[in-house]
Amino acid sequence: MSQSQSTTYPTAPNGAPDAVPEGGELRHDWEAEEILALMRLPLTELVHRAQSVHRRHHPENTVQLASLLSIKTGACPEDCKYCPQSAHYAKETGVARAPLMRVADVLEAARLAEGAGATRFCMGAAWREVRDGPDFEAVLEMVRGVKALGLEACVTLGMVNEEQARRLAEAGLTAYNHNLDTSPEFYGEIISTRCYQDRLDTLARVREAGITLCSGGIIGMGESELDRARMLQVLANLDPHPESVPINALVPVAGTPLAGREPVDPIDMVRMVAAARIAMPASRVRLSAGRRNLSREAQILCLMAGANSIFYGEKLLTTANADTEEDLAMIREAGLEVEGAAPRTAEAG
Ligand code: SF4
Repeated sequence: MSQSQSTTYPTAPNGAPDAVPEGGELRHDWEAEEILALMRLPLTELVHRAQSVHRRHHPENTVQLASLLSIKTGACPEDCKYCPQSAHYAKETGVARAPLMRVADVLEAARLAEGAGATRFCMGAAWREVRDGPDFEAVLEMVRGVKALGLEACVTLGMVNEEQARRLAEAGLTAYNHNLDTSPEFYGEIISTRCYQDRLDTLARVREAGITLCSGGIIGMGESELDRARMLQVLANLDPHPESVPINALVPVAGTPLAGREPVDPIDMVRMVAAARIAMPASRVRLSAGRRNLSREAQILCLMAGANSIFYGEKLLTTANADTEEDLAMIREAGLEVEGAAPRTAEAG
């Protein structure tokens, strides 16, 4: 059995949790050390604080189901070391390039997701940046179609310029996903084809266009606990906070440079979710990639720690996600309610 990759989170040096910020207010002046101190609280104290903050800003015991579809797969010119869609590792990963899906097929997938209980539909294209032309026009049509189904529409398309952001807003886009991935200091270890500031610039353009932000990161790539706190600090010091903060655990994919990394300790995930909840009280914290590797109990602990959305469905871009029926069973057994429409399960027809 492989040993999980664990980060040591000792109790804060003074052993006094009360010295750690309580959280709960919308602040944009977080110090990394404050977030680190939160992460280092005894686990029960941390989860308790996170749940208290959660209840001040969100309905209790609800979870949103979001569905994610890869609308254009592979052959991405970026070299993100965790990503099987990068052209840099295509020979090793064997992920073939698939062109942009047809609008009708994407909308059919959105209809199925809606029928399965999703209220948010996220579409990902493996592009470095958006290029004007027929593909972008098709994406705009997808956004309009998804919105017409009554779903929140989110896209992740790489970098966008001001005009493209404006057109996405005009099409009715709810959210733009653009993850920071990790801390500014560790970023260069993971990606060399763009810089941190590129990410922040795109986020600023999207915000300026009036689209909500979905931005988070990945743990388990070899970063330190301070890197994790720094990433949350950068996100929490955006004003306003990103409305959606996906927390991913690395899914090591064969053929990528991070293939050999040990799995993330589930408790590290819980600590990360809780710290995100406390630092960004009103944001939706999403359990994203890597959820499949968490036990049902660890996922429920993450929900207690303030996660209030899960990515749902069989595939998370190109890696397998938790099974749909298992997800619904977990939600039911935990006594949680799905936000929005009740999912139609296979049993219910
Ligand atoms: S994470 Fe996105 S930008 Fe990076 S290689 Fe994969 S598809 Fe390209």
